Amino acid sequence: MNVTFLGTGAGEGYPGLFCECPNCTYARVHGGRNIRTNTATLIDADTMLDMNDTCFVTAARMGIPLGRVRHLLITHSDDDHLSSQMLWWRFMTPGLDTMPKAEQMKISSPRFTAVPDLHVFGSRATKHALMRVRPEIFDTPSRQQIIYHQIEDGKSYQEGGLTIRAIRAQHGAPGFCHNYIVERGGKTLLYASDTGGYDDDMMKILFEYRYDLVIMEGTYGLGYNGPGHMCLEKNRAFRKLLADHGCFADNARMVITHMSPHWTPPHDEYAAMLSDEGIDVAYDGLRI
Ligand SMILES: [Zn+2]
Ligand SMILES: [Zn+2]
Repeated sequence: MNVTFLGTGAGEGYPGLFCECPNCTYARVHGGRNIRTNTATLIDADTMLDMNDTCFVTAARMGIPLGRVRHLLITHSDDDHLSSQMLWWRFMTPGLDTMPKAEQMKISSPRFTAVPDLHVFGSRATKHALMRVRPEIFDTPSRQQIIYHQIEDGKSYQEGGLTIRAIRAQHGAPGFCHNYIVERGGKTLLYASDTGGYDDDMMKILFEYRYDLVIMEGTYGLGYNGPGHMCLEKNRAFRKLLADHGCFADNARMVITHMSPHWTPPHDEYAAMLSDEGIDVAYDGLRI
């Protein structure tokens, strides 16, 4: 399993869109890994966790064609995780695909090459959010090119060599946000963004696995220990909890993503600070 981080920032980005605080200014001056777009992650070449407005920039810079993505696992419908506009640009009226390019260009086409069907996994709430703004992509089954799999808390799904288990997160109302356990090729990934923790029934499921990689959000970093997101203190506590339950495979890694400039230091500083305790700080373009 190859994991590529296409974005590692929280909603406001890093630097924050309209902010000139010391962290945001440092990121602008030093650039590189200190610049974070909204959080999205790619598994191998064909599976994405969330699809927002910014992931395409990182993918393009890295030479990754997202037209090969066949599976999209959506955590929730907040704008920094799901952009219906991106799905719209993927959509094409059937028949256009097979038309000669010259004919396509007369009609105007969002793309000139075919894409595979996209299996989208998400909650009922996410489906409703998508349908509100882009009903067309669900309207006509023969035209949709999107197959929506409505997930249920704690349930497992098999698709394209992946085993996917949906975990109810604590982010907004119950059922608004889900995290995922993803297995492929004998490796196990826990994708934990966005959440402030888990209810007991979900913790019980999380303890059933041995993870090769835990990707966990760390929005609040050194600051605020509030609900809906994780701070570093919670990241450490959660890591200990998993370790105490024997949930880490040999050579397992824990990586922090979804960082806000208001609470997490710039990457240069934060990565150095956490390297001693074996917590990796992700950056846009990191491959594992
Ligand atoms: Zn978010
Ligand atoms: Zn969110």
